[in-house]
Amino acid sequence: MTIENAILSSIPYDEQTRLMPHLSEMEIVPGMVLHASRGHVEHLYFLDDGLVSLAVPLLDGRAIEGVTIGREGAVGIHALAWDGPSPASSIVHVRGRAKSLPVEVALDLLGDLPDFTRRLARNASLQFEWALQTAACNAAHSVRQRLAHWLLLFSDQTGTDRLALTHELLATVLGVSCQQLSVVANGMRRAGHIDYHHAHLVLTDRRALESDACECYEILSQQLRLVAAE
Ligand SMILES: [Zn+2]
Repeated sequence: MTIENAILSSIPYDEQTRLMPHLSEMEIVPGMVLHASRGHVEHLYFLDDGLVSLAVPLLDGRAIEGVTIGREGAVGIHALAWDGPSPASSIVHVRGRAKSLPVEVALDLLGDLPDFTRRLARNASLQFEWALQTAACNAAHSVRQRLAHWLLLFSDQTGTDRLALTHELLATVLGVSCQQLSVVANGMRRAGHIDYHHAHLVLTDRRALESDACECYEILSQQLRLVAAE
């Protein structure tokens, strides 16, 4: 079994060996719902690649993005702290592979796997910080700043400057209309910062995008680098 997920690949071999019999491999595809908002969480998911969003659905049909999780993290961590409903929907944005682990098994093993437990706790703190930063970002920063910020983070988390993302998805992520999103994205394309065709978007000038983005990008990308280096 090939492991690319940062949590699973960085723990000691003996801890990996204890987990391995309980992990199931699966493909994740855009639009797949790993956890429904307010639903019961039965599995944790460790992404080897791809991208999952934790989004809060609203009554008007929008689902506002709070946190995105790539190969650095685990989806469903809150279920290790309490057996309540999921606070958000876990929705796949970018195709990839993941390993699932039953929550019950994870809870049974935590006491025996100190490094695994520590890395899960560290990832939970990253997701908490990410959600706080996103709340501030949504309240204070412009659509252009936020679009650049999310595109750069998506790129960092997936390891590519070519992203399979539709305007509809990006509008949902940012909580704006498709028309608002198109106006901003067209401006960035005319300036040569991005290019796109149908559902394929390319970050053509990362330095310019970093200038477009609010400070939230630098703060969160630094956190991602810190977690990767630990
Ligand atoms: Zn921001």
